[in-house]
Amino acid sequence: MKLDSTIRLDLRYASSNNFMGRPMYGSARAFLQRPAADALVRVHRALRHRGLGLTIFDAYRPWRVTKQFWDETPAAKRAYVADPRRGSIHNRGCAVDLTLCDQRTGKELPMPSPFDDFSLRASPRYGGGTVQERANREILRRAMEAEGFTVNRGEWWHFDYREWREYGILDIPFTAF
Ligand SMILES: [Zn+2]
Repeated sequence: MKLDSTIRLDLRYASSNNFMGRPMYGSARAFLQRPAADALVRVHRALRHRGLGLTIFDAYRPWRVTKQFWDETPAAKRAYVADPRRGSIHNRGCAVDLTLCDQRTGKELPMPSPFDDFSLRASPRYGGGTVQERANREILRRAMEAEGFTVNRGEWWHFDYREWREYGILDIPFTAF
């Protein structure tokens, strides 16, 4: 995310800190289609007055990685991974997984579930957790919606950019950028 170096990156799939337990990307970089990236920078800047910022977990994802997720996820948990026959909006460079952080320390704000929690706690409508956790989730959702992103029905951290249909599925590996 070269457009704003103050956006923090915690790219889980470039490390072993993800549900696959191993690095899936060749480099720790976040890519989005340009209009989505520009919108995300506006979200990040709008959060500054609250002392907050964005931390990105994932953005563009090559199609072959979506296929690996599907192939290695048990059938009972496949609601949480994209079917490679349709592809993911991450494959189009128009989806981003992210959370809020303290602008100064970079510490992630508490949310009702961790990233990639494959349970009902991940839903943006989950009513459990603490009042503060739910309030943080709402701040993130409202800030993203204000710039044209829509939250995923099952994952509070996943947002799709409104123009995603205009972009095709890509399978360009990270090593090609
Ligand atoms: Zn996602």
